[in-house]
Amino acid sequence: QSKPQARVDGSTGVTFSDVAGIEIAVEELQELVKYLKNPELFDKMGIKPPHGVLLEGPPGCGKTLVAKAIAGEAGVPFYQMAGSEFVEVLVGVGSARIRDLFKRAKVNRPSVIFIDEIDALATRRQGIFSDKTDDLYNAATQERETTLNQLLIELDGFDTGKGVIFLGATNRKDLLDPALLRPGRFDRKIRIRPPNAKGRLEILQVHARKVKLSESVDLSVFAQNLPGWSGARLAQLLQEAALVAVRNKHESILQSDVGEAVDRLTVGPKRVALDLG
Ligand code: ATP
Repeated sequence: QSKPQARVDGSTGVTFSDVAGIEIAVEELQELVKYLKNPELFDKMGIKPPHGVLLEGPPGCGKTLVAKAIAGEAGVPFYQMAGSEFVEVLVGVGSARIRDLFKRAKVNRPSVIFIDEIDALATRRQGIFSDKTDDLYNAATQERETTLNQLLIELDGFDTGKGVIFLGATNRKDLLDPALLRPGRFDRKIRIRPPNAKGRLEILQVHARKVKLSESVDLSVFAQNLPGWSGARLAQLLQEAALVAVRNKHESILQSDVGEAVDRLTVGPKRVALDLG
């Protein structure tokens, strides 16, 4: 009854060198990696590990990537599930999945648990203030609250689960139940912002390593002229540029291929006039 199960990557293979353009304290992340590499040392020194770390920021800016990089740097298994996978109307299914997820991660500790879109299961509880009378709605709400309670129980019991780091990601922190944000639950919060021009260039450079780019391409032109583009979109841009280059029968990606790819990804009324060379 507790399907679907978490997707586990023995090792994610992702490292901090794959993450670019995010101005967050690398030391803060390194500390988590150090803990995962040697939880006993922290225990011996009497240092309390963080219970949970909340990664917060807009879609496509690298929350999942950062989570995978923490596990990858430490070389530990990564248990990934989406918040929506815990939302079921059937009583007890969501909480059983939570129990199962934590149990499996503890057996294989040190390890990382990552729940993406955590807002789907951890929205603010409504309690007696709910004015909805619909039975199905109430049943679903109650079930979600039971699931959230189970998550809180697991986080509270983390001292017995040494060597497991719990990471959650959201782009709607405002929707989260305040109980989850209390110290001892998500006691660290890392804000991941959309990249600025410098960040966009660094992200393009990371993804340029994966495609065949002509030496003549000046990526800084694109970085400067694509405000608001997320890391995910910039990664997609270089993939698209590679396809355009193949179609144009170029041996490597040229500046004009990247420009054409921008055009292809910038559609409809949102299309902007760019001078991309
Ligand atoms: P969502 O909220 O939609 O789940 P997210 O913030 O978790 O988004 P990711 O899934 O980490 O975003 O990003 C998707 C892909 O975009 C990554 O696998 C990577 O290829 C690329 N990407 C995003 N941000 C970065 C970044 N900062 N550096 C390098 N690549 C990035």
